[in-house]
Amino acid sequence: RPSKEKNEEGSNLTVAVRIRPLTEKDQAVQGGASNIVKIRDKDLIIHSSSLGTDHIFQYDHIFWSCDSSSPIYASQEDVFTTIGKPLLNSAFQGYNACLFAYGQTGSGKSFSMMGQHLTECVDIDSDDYCGIIPRFCRDLFDRISKLKSHSHVAVEVSYFEIYNEKIHDLLATSATKLPLKVREHPMWGPYVVDLTVKPVKSYCQLREYLLMGNKNRAIAATTMNEKSSRSHSIFSVELCMSEGLRKEDNRRSKVSLVDLAGSERLGNSYNTDDKMREGVFINKALLTLGKVISALADQKKNQFVPYRESVLTWLLKESLGGNSLTSMLATISPASSHLEETLSTLRYACQAR
Ligand code: ADP
Repeated sequence: RPSKEKNEEGSNLTVAVRIRPLTEKDQAVQGGASNIVKIRDKDLIIHSSSLGTDHIFQYDHIFWSCDSSSPIYASQEDVFTTIGKPLLNSAFQGYNACLFAYGQTGSGKSFSMMGQHLTECVDIDSDDYCGIIPRFCRDLFDRISKLKSHSHVAVEVSYFEIYNEKIHDLLATSATKLPLKVREHPMWGPYVVDLTVKPVKSYCQLREYLLMGNKNRAIAATTMNEKSSRSHSIFSVELCMSEGLRKEDNRRSKVSLVDLAGSERLGNSYNTDDKMREGVFINKALLTLGKVISALADQKKNQFVPYRESVLTWLLKESLGGNSLTSMLATISPASSHLEETLSTLRYACQAR
């Protein structure tokens, strides 16, 4: 096999940070918000008068998306090229891959992963706004169309969310709303029982499922009180590649693109028992993911990796570690009013390095 995609240091783990622009909402807070994030060479600097000293962080990539007039501005395409394309290359080489978007609610996770218009058929492909997931899928079929005639790639997609450690199928057509269960296959690893898996032959067809899942996600969010910020959504693409008639020549790989629940800590908004539980469950998945990733980053052999401590990490077990390529995109707001959450996101992303 050809050599795998790796980051500059030869690791299978890549950590990137993206800074979104100040929004009107940021500026509407008392006294307006100022920008506390700066970039100097490879350093990301948090500068605020409320901190004694500047805080400096380093990552594999820093995407400055604050103002489009800046010479270092990172567009949706730049972000995809840097962290999305390697996942696609990896998948074509037969390796699993996953990408997580981590950050507080409103920091740009969905914008980065899906794009600006999540449920509107007209705009999902509008180039300036199109996020990593639709770009990934478009490129996938582009590449398939350019393959040699004797190779064949079958593509299947699934889309689900995890809310309170329970799995909900976003592509289910039946009215059943029961949560789905996870089982572990002795050979193939953990999987979701009865999850809808759709074979797709073109980007156009895939896009319909993406829109359908996004709509279902949005519906669930409005009926369940902003649920979307408290659930993890996982869009997976599975490739089965054959290059000849022999079954042994087949290669399988899976790429999971994950928009994580908002990372904001338990605050006053979590008063009722239900909310308490949500907060605890969200944190459990995010904490476990942090532990899993730092165990993998710390390349000591035989270190225990606690995959099974949350449904999310258990299900992604086959895509985390080993030969898999793992990327984390931490999204932050530049606003002074988000200082605490921003620091907490940057520290979380650091432990992965
Ligand atoms: P999250 O998914 O983390 O809750 P969103 O992706 O919904 O956050 O982003 C919050 C707001 O900020 C949205 O209005 C979105 O359009 C805007 N936004 C986020 N990132 C960017 C960016 N890189 N460029 C322009 N606008 C952005």
